[in-house]
Amino acid sequence: MAKKFLCLGIESTAHTFGASVVSGDGEVLSDIREMFTTEEGGLKLDEVAEHHKKVAEHVVERALKDAGVEIEDLELISFSRAPGLAPSLLVGMNAAKEIAKDGGIPLVGVNHCVAHLSSGLLFTKAKNPVFVFTSGANTQIIAFEGRKFRVFGETLDVGLGNAFDKFGRGIGLGFPCGPKIEVLAKKGSYVELPYSVKGMDLAFSGIVSHVVRLSKQKKISKQDLCYSIQENFFSMLTEVSERALAHTGKKEIVLIGGVAANKRLCEMMGIMCKERECMFYSVPLKYSGDNAVMIAWQGILEKKSATKNVERWDINPRERIDLVEVEWM
Ligand code: ATP
Repeated sequence: MAKKFLCLGIESTAHTFGASVVSGDGEVLSDIREMFTTEEGGLKLDEVAEHHKKVAEHVVERALKDAGVEIEDLELISFSRAPGLAPSLLVGMNAAKEIAKDGGIPLVGVNHCVAHLSSGLLFTKAKNPVFVFTSGANTQIIAFEGRKFRVFGETLDVGLGNAFDKFGRGIGLGFPCGPKIEVLAKKGSYVELPYSVKGMDLAFSGIVSHVVRLSKQKKISKQDLCYSIQENFFSMLTEVSERALAHTGKKEIVLIGGVAANKRLCEMMGIMCKERECMFYSVPLKYSGDNAVMIAWQGILEKKSATKNVERWDINPRERIDLVEVEWM
């Protein structure tokens, strides 16, 4: 039997340090993640990087063991070089460089947001969709046109996940708040809140500050606040996604990023797509948040840029998705 092309992916842009082995035909052989969490309060840059340093070696070892492979079996190492928290990105890059150097294996650095989109194509049947990418740090409506990923609409301040986290912290929930808000929202009813769509763009921060203030001034239950903020944020996102479909003439939506785990958001997007006779796909829950599977897969797509000269690679904490040259599509 022919030997499979194997890539080790390493993810470390934010709260998660992950390692995964994926084959050249997209088979996931392992997927190990260690996530930095807190009971109360948010992410502190140096604490997250410290966490990643502590778990890195063990996570990589487990990923290799789960896949049943040795370092010598790998033909490519891929790491997330952008965008993200600089101290965390450095931990991932240094780990990847060390393994690549020791094993004499080619290394490639990929853009984490692009990897999210590619995983949307790997794990769904979508061919040429509008991507609704909504994670902690990002919220963008993106489509592939003219050899680039073009951003048709985006947040003007924070990503939707971070907006949820900030709101959650404001009412006393620990990180990450999104899943806790989703649970509380199931028992809530609607109270009127602001709605903020500006052209194709979205603004979340002002609404978060308003709702946190409201929670201190008036006796409104956490359940009602969670339900209402979810309804408004998701309606805003669905509205601009629908307009992106109309503008591009595309017939598919792929929902990606940590917030895609939310069932109410999927329901709203699903209804909108049905009404427009479009297909709605959401990346499987398991792969919606940060993971190294998508980093390995993106590395495989970009393997032509890989090099044994590992020093060629550096991190780029602020690289936007529309600056990436797309040569693999
Ligand atoms: P990025 O991928 O842009 O670097 P990130 O690493 O912070 O950002 P992800 O791991 O993709 O993002 O997603 C984490 C975010 O998703 C957190 O902000 C979390 O609150 C949010 N989230 C997770 N589950 C849910 C949910 N069920 N409902 C709403 N938000 C959620």
